[in-house]
Amino acid sequence: MKRLTATIAALALGAFGLAGAAHAEGKGLIGVSMPTKSSARWIDDGNNMVKSLKEKGYDVDLQYAEDEIPNQLAQIENMITKGSKVLVIAAIDGTTLSDALQQAADKGIKVIAYDRLIRNSKNVDYYATFDNFQVGVLQGGYIEKALGLKEGKGPFNIELFGGSPDDNNAFFFYNGAMSVLDPYIKSGKLVVASGQIGMDKVAILRWDGAVAQSRMDNLLSAYYNDKRVDAVLSPYDGLSIGIISSLKGVGYGTPKQPMPVVTGQDAEIPSMKSILAKEQTSTVFKDTRELAKVAANMVDSILSGKTVEVNDTKTYENGVKTVPSYLLKPVSVDASNWKQILVDSGYYKENQIK
Ligand code: BGC
Repeated sequence: MKRLTATIAALALGAFGLAGAAHAEGKGLIGVSMPTKSSARWIDDGNNMVKSLKEKGYDVDLQYAEDEIPNQLAQIENMITKGSKVLVIAAIDGTTLSDALQQAADKGIKVIAYDRLIRNSKNVDYYATFDNFQVGVLQGGYIEKALGLKEGKGPFNIELFGGSPDDNNAFFFYNGAMSVLDPYIKSGKLVVASGQIGMDKVAILRWDGAVAQSRMDNLLSAYYNDKRVDAVLSPYDGLSIGIISSLKGVGYGTPKQPMPVVTGQDAEIPSMKSILAKEQTSTVFKDTRELAKVAANMVDSILSGKTVEVNDTKTYENGVKTVPSYLLKPVSVDASNWKQILVDSGYYKENQIK
């Protein structure tokens, strides 16, 4: 009798468990940790992750850490406690998550680095991202083309900006851009009047547009009183907006003193408007719908025991291991192709930009 009661209790528990799982759409909870809502791209990433994972039958715990490392750590620990089956993480600082990831590994929870590589931990299973070196090549290549450097034009003055030094991507963007620009700097066709070259001199912590603006203010007042700046390498739209404010502040953006070529990344709406207003020159579009699909497929393959699709097993060494990756293609966007790339693809509605 006792045994029977126990069996019934166990069955009831099982049924309850199943009901609970059914309530959770059947396939379990996935933790998605995003860095900040201060940039629209991450909001799109979060929304697209929720959509892609829900379509596959998962529940999603989506959290934003507002660029504070302790917030992100606490949120990830909470996701582990709540029983997430896989963690998808776009790190604020790629080097600070090791302890939390060890906790995850101890519970058998797999980890996907989302867009930004997590460094110095063996507990990173996969990486879903774009070809980050190529992003930089597109940015540097845009400057090369806009200035006519291949045709031998120049010399031109340029200033360089880099992304956050705690984000592995920032080095890939910078190195990609410099793979195009450096030969022209060496030959004297591009002149960095400030002499500030190298990530140790040009990086902007946390991708902060206000910091980029004040660095540009300083560069303009220290080095450009008697000459113009013809191009600014900016790795991210949020920095470009700050850089452009600074340029406008000293009179750029008029027929007499046109804006320099200013690059960017993410095709965020304020920058698309700026491109149409002939202030920012170009950006790099990375379709977050596709990235979310890649990451959601990884989650589903992991949990259903299928082979996880990757297309790069060499590039992303994180200090401890080379993380198997799936790289998507970034696309250069400017005033000539924005409609085709951003509107025809359904990413934006035309009236969001115009
Ligand atoms: C992303 C970029 C973004 C930057 C700032 C990078 O890790 O790859 O798309 O512009 O962070 O948010």
